[in-house]
Amino acid sequence: MWQTVTAGLCQISTNSMNKHLWKESAACKDFDTNLFFDKYEETPDIRHGVDSVCLKCPVAATCFAVGVSQKEYGIWGGIYLDKGKISREFNSHKTKSKWSEIWQNLTMR
Ligand code: SF4
Repeated sequence: MWQTVTAGLCQISTNSMNKHLWKESAACKDFDTNLFFDKYEETPDIRHGVDSVCLKCPVAATCFAVGVSQKEYGIWGGIYLDKGKISREFNSHKTKSKWSEIWQNLTMR
């Protein structure tokens, strides 16, 4: 199911994506980049803090699309990816309602 949603998001977002311009609007623009990669795995406080930032991000859908299409790892669109696929391990703290918020954020902007 998520593969279908992901493919749709990638098509929409990459169609309107200017190579790096979207990063200027990122909610994480002034944050330590490591928080969205290795540090995300360190403590629950960091994970929840990063999750909250991504939920307020106006370019989350584009971010997610880039992460998937470039087979990235780390947080992209509020979801931890491992080689462009959703990581079960590093998203396991997310509740059903959190996933609902994330998908809404990725599809409603
Ligand atoms: S979704 Fe999260 S990681 Fe992606 S640009 Fe926005 S704040 Fe940064």
